[in-house]
Amino acid sequence: MKIEKPRGTRDLSPEEMGKRRFVEGEIVRTFESYNYRPIQVPTFEHAELFSLKSGEEIRQHMYVFRDKSDRELCLRPEATASVCRMFVENFQNTQMPLKFYYMGPMFRYERPQKGRYREFWQAGVELIGPSGARSDAEVISMASKCLENIGLKFELEVGHLGILRGLMRDLGIGAGKQDELINAMDKGETERLENLVEHEVLLDIIGLNGQKDAVERAKTILNSYPSALSALEELSQILSLLDENATSYVVNMGVARGLEYYTGMVFEIMVNGLGAQSQICGGGRYDLLIELFGGKTTPAVGFAFGFDRVVDAFDEQGIKAPEAAVDFVVAPVSDEIRKDADRIASELRKQGASVDIDLMDRKLGKIMEYAANVNALQVVIVGPKELAKSEVTLRDMKTGGQENVKIANLKFKIEKRNGK
Ligand code: AMP
Repeated sequence: MKIEKPRGTRDLSPEEMGKRRFVEGEIVRTFESYNYRPIQVPTFEHAELFSLKSGEEIRQHMYVFRDKSDRELCLRPEATASVCRMFVENFQNTQMPLKFYYMGPMFRYERPQKGRYREFWQAGVELIGPSGARSDAEVISMASKCLENIGLKFELEVGHLGILRGLMRDLGIGAGKQDELINAMDKGETERLENLVEHEVLLDIIGLNGQKDAVERAKTILNSYPSALSALEELSQILSLLDENATSYVVNMGVARGLEYYTGMVFEIMVNGLGAQSQICGGGRYDLLIELFGGKTTPAVGFAFGFDRVVDAFDEQGIKAPEAAVDFVVAPVSDEIRKDADRIASELRKQGASVDIDLMDRKLGKIMEYAANVNALQVVIVGPKELAKSEVTLRDMKTGGQENVKIANLKFKIEKRNGK
């Protein structure tokens, strides 16, 4: 019986994993350079953790199931709600700020297409404790730095839901309708949005974008709306900080985000060439979510990369990961000396090298072909004549040069790895 993988899932080959490991490595290295620490949360949670505040878009796509004790559970569609739950359960009395990062699979029952999967990966951070422009600017710059370090070209759009929500509040629009409007904005449903909006000023603000000058234009439009104006002032501070640390951005007041829990700054990162799936990162400030999960009022801000899309963009822009290589392939020329060959392989591994050894009883010629195939840097040929002199033959796969070396002198030089 032939069983295929479920729709919307993927098998990833060593080549793809090589690329993903490289991209993940750069992202994690950047997170850690800002002192964010790794955490892990469960892949399934109580369904209500997400149904409470993750937004209509996510609710519709949740994988919900009942376990044998009739609990209603859900495969996590995102991680922010889990991190808040974890914070409330374990970290409320820890010194702030808390700087967490995570990387793992998320699950959404969406219509699969390129860049949109039912099982996909996110790499994200949550900065818990501080409020204010400086922490917003830190996470935005960090997201930008991650992509710069990978070598990607991208565009970062910053908005502020406090401005939109403030304006809607000043206009007397209730919370339910606010969510509906934001959802229509997030989906880019212009017609539905225009039908919902009765106030021209709201459409003017949503349509506003540009560089920092957009803030000045917004100031004029929002002149008589005090809640919106104070949020605008905060956005202006965030932008000044981004200018100071040379993070490029465009202001887009229409950035809405489908997740209902955002309260302040929101941002998205887009790339060319991925069609409808051009958004590779999304995030923002969510100051009320922790309280909603029964914690003390604690401000927080974070973002998540759509990891698969970052890797797609990496391909699209023709960036190459360093090629995977193995330091040594050990090649015993006959059966009697396998034991010695094993010993040599173990010794090299002990020194930190990656070592492959023939497992298919192949002849030397075939082992050499295999070594070229797996991108070996060197082949250690173990033959009886050399062994008698406590030597092996070392072949450099790049130059083709060979030399006999004493086994005792067979040292792994780390700088040879990956040609670095
Ligand atoms: P969100 O949690 O909805 O804010 O999404 C954060 C990022 O995850 C988005 O910017 C996308 O890059 C990525 N993403 C969301 N849904 C999917 C999906 N079904 N497949 C692949 N990536 C996704």
